[in-house]
Amino acid sequence: MKGSLRDMEDLCGVDPLARTFRELARAGTQSDDSSKNIPSTVGQLRLGAQLASLIGGMGFKAEQDEKGVVTACVSASPGCEGCERIALIAHLDTAPDAPGEGVEPRLVKNYDGGSIELDSGLVIDNQICPQLPSHKGDDIIVTDGVTLLGADDKAGVAVILEILRELSQDPSFKHPEIRAVFSVDEEIGRSADYIDVKKLGCAFGITVDGGEAGELDTATFSAEGATVKITGRSVHTAVAYKTMVNACEMAARFMQLLPRDEKPENTRGTEGFFHVHNVEASTASAKIRMIIRDFDKDKLLQRVEQLEMIAELLNREAGYACVSVEHKHQYANMGEVLKQHPEVLERCRKAYEAAGVLVRECAVRGGTDGSNLSGRGLPCPNFFTGGLCAHGPYECLPVKSLHRCHDAVKALIEICAGER
Ligand SMILES: [Zn+2]
Repeated sequence: MKGSLRDMEDLCGVDPLARTFRELARAGTQSDDSSKNIPSTVGQLRLGAQLASLIGGMGFKAEQDEKGVVTACVSASPGCEGCERIALIAHLDTAPDAPGEGVEPRLVKNYDGGSIELDSGLVIDNQICPQLPSHKGDDIIVTDGVTLLGADDKAGVAVILEILRELSQDPSFKHPEIRAVFSVDEEIGRSADYIDVKKLGCAFGITVDGGEAGELDTATFSAEGATVKITGRSVHTAVAYKTMVNACEMAARFMQLLPRDEKPENTRGTEGFFHVHNVEASTASAKIRMIIRDFDKDKLLQRVEQLEMIAELLNREAGYACVSVEHKHQYANMGEVLKQHPEVLERCRKAYEAAGVLVRECAVRGGTDGSNLSGRGLPCPNFFTGGLCAHGPYECLPVKSLHRCHDAVKALIEICAGER
């Protein structure tokens, strides 16, 4: 099957949420890891300014701060002033994996369950996107197969924007005080640091930034970064006998001593790992950079100890302190924080049910903005957006899933207002 611009146009004529999504998708907002600017690209700044003025036009106070983060303030509806303030968060930027300029969404109507041929000739099939066949009968938004659709996270932004519009127009929509946050540079790992948790002052928040409909991300890895430094003893090879300590060899030995079956390529589910991602070595010195991941905080720390034990062993063998390990906390499993706030997940589950979606609680083998924000005092699980195959030209968005996302977020707001 193929996508059609005409069908997308027709859909936008009758579906405001899809229309909002298309407008957002057309705005180029890719983030750029190589940029030192905040935000990393002007496209994000431009879209953020447009959103702030659009939301201002709805009658809400909306501000774009110096980092580019847009925050909209919605006061509680009459009678809900005593309810806890909540945050809805989505990111404006899109991933750098495929071109983000000139995006023009197309619609595959009444998907037949087979493969979808994009204009570029690329084909989305069940191998690329295993969830796709289960969307048989849906209308699915795709790109031309060159550009990145950016449903991650324009779908989340579109849903929150539509909800703001409904809040501004529908007095019967009961709601607590809300902060809507449109963040920047999420795809290059900078966004959560730009969000001022204290200033938001919310009891909890959600990021609307997940994938398949029904998924609720409630746990993430806990993460440490480690650097192993090795100082060799470099002498001329002619006189190296029993004298030289080659840091290259030491680095190789260190990596050999890491448990083989505890590497990303050999682990899945809730198993943690050690991952060496960079090695620099010469005879004189070496540096091994790695990341360590585990869902369990104690096990994560045991992994750090394991590195220290390997270093000790090598130091003993060499007869001097040639290996040292430095480690740095990166982020914590949001599940540990959410455990202390069971009412947050309870409300999320209820919201999914109210929206008619089956909840599948997921442990993400990575981090989300919510891991960082939860660690800083804002419990923050991640809602699905419905987007599939993110981070490449195969990305697509079943329209029904996008609406389910809208319904779930809206239900959550009503639940927090004591309405459901
Ligand atoms: Zn995202």
